[in-house]
Amino acid sequence: MTQGGVTLEELKKKMADFARERDWDQFHSPRNLLLALVGEVGELSEIFQWKGEVPRGLPEWKDEEKQHVGEELSDVLLYLVRLSDICGIDLGKAALRKLELNAIKYPVILSKGSSKKHTQINGDNNSDGGLLASTKNNNSSCSCSSSTSSDCV
Ligand SMILES: [Mg+2]
Repeated sequence: MTQGGVTLEELKKKMADFARERDWDQFHSPRNLLLALVGEVGELSEIFQWKGEVPRGLPEWKDEEKQHVGEELSDVLLYLVRLSDICGIDLGKAALRKLELNAIKYPVILSKGSSKKHTQINGDNNSDGGLLASTKNNNSSCSCSSSTSSDCV
């Protein structure tokens, strides 16, 4: 299989083998893995910190910078896969189910071209913090009534 076509199942197995070979299973508790995941999200965030908005594809970035982004994205993915495995969650199945739920939450007819949160388009209060809303959420296009832009998704 090509590198780009790797499956979550393959990553899960490779992570399990990696940990077992090093006798690291003893350290891979759900809490420890969650904290490691959050740490990697922080490392990824650091790369973008203070750069302002950047165009898709990162066309102005050096190869080394883009490679660094790939490394940190990989760290996030690998810890996410490992955490899911340790928690007994089938991540692929859970993600597909969540996509279906999000499609219900954000029907095309009400959501197309809008960055409004589902509670504003559906009028329900079933907020779980999840989203697959528009990526053009910024202060200038935000149409939510929240006082903080972080709520504008
Ligand atoms: Mg890292």
